[in-house]
Amino acid sequence: MIVDGTVLLLFCSACGARHPNFQFSGDTDMDMDGLGSAGDRTGARLVLFRALRGDVEGAWLDGELRSASLASVTPLAPSAKGLDFASFRKLYRPPELKFHCPWCDAAEMAVSREMTPAEFVDAGGRIDFIGAIELREGQAFS
Ligand SMILES: [Zn+2]
Repeated sequence: MIVDGTVLLLFCSACGARHPNFQFSGDTDMDMDGLGSAGDRTGARLVLFRALRGDVEGAWLDGELRSASLASVTPLAPSAKGLDFASFRKLYRPPELKFHCPWCDAAEMAVSREMTPAEFVDAGGRIDFIGAIELREGQAFS
């Protein structure tokens, strides 16, 4: 399976973890079942997997890699009511995502940076793959 997406660098203000999380994007009819990502707490390693979550955590993730789950989505964009499209676009901001920190269980991890997989690797990150999954960009990242 070929996937596409964005690397979100999450920051936990409670424990200081910098956790990379992969936001998959793709066709809505794409089977996202079993797709997930796990990262370390320094923002250096990211693993994309397509497997049963239990299998991955048991067999592959040795405790140095964990998965963050989405805690809340807060819309920040103004109501489009009464605004013409140009004004709406000017005021538009993407919704604010908060994640559960897998390192301390705080539900306050915020997105500190958003980048492409290639930018993540350029910045010194490493992406590994588990299972039948690869990135659309196609490079070997490790
Ligand atoms: Zn934390």
